[in-house]
Amino acid sequence: MDIKQTIHDALLKELVKKDDKGKYPNLIELVRHGRFTVKCSVDLRNEKGCIDVVLTYPNPIYCRVTEDGGLVMADGPHRPTAFELVTDIGFDVGKKLEQLNRYKLEYHDTRVIIPEEYKEDYAQLFSMNDITVHAWKGTRRWKCKKCENVTEVKESSMKPNRCSSKSCTNTNLYFVGLKDVQFK
Ligand SMILES: [Zn+2]
Repeated sequence: MDIKQTIHDALLKELVKKDDKGKYPNLIELVRHGRFTVKCSVDLRNEKGCIDVVLTYPNPIYCRVTEDGGLVMADGPHRPTAFELVTDIGFDVGKKLEQLNRYKLEYHDTRVIIPEEYKEDYAQLFSMNDITVHAWKGTRRWKCKKCENVTEVKESSMKPNRCSSKSCTNTNLYFVGLKDVQFK
């Protein structure tokens, strides 16, 4: 049975999906780094709202031998990365910027993942606010309540007007998941 879900939740599941080696291929693609701990829906400390995904890194420890032979140890930088996932449902760039700028007060490395077809028009607005922009693309799958045929849509999260089966005229479809999702 297909469970009803939102596109945002399906996307979140894809982003934090583990491969059979227990690694996170989609997150590693974005941060180019494999050693992190993943947390989802993280509350902000001082503000309302929560962040979709936060990666924290272990503290690297640097050692240095001083001129007189002493050993100096220091914690390295370990700034976490915050990700906000954006779909094209009710997309409002102003609201998203406001939200992300709030996240930035707490997470210096705040990033946004927007639908690929929005990148050309909106990436600059985020990057000029010092927010790294990534993109996602994927096929949205909608199931017909009547004939169970699956209608696939590539570049929009809007619900299709009707079932794509030629012998069916039903307009009652529900979202059942994503296929071929890519994060860049
Ligand atoms: Zn149908």
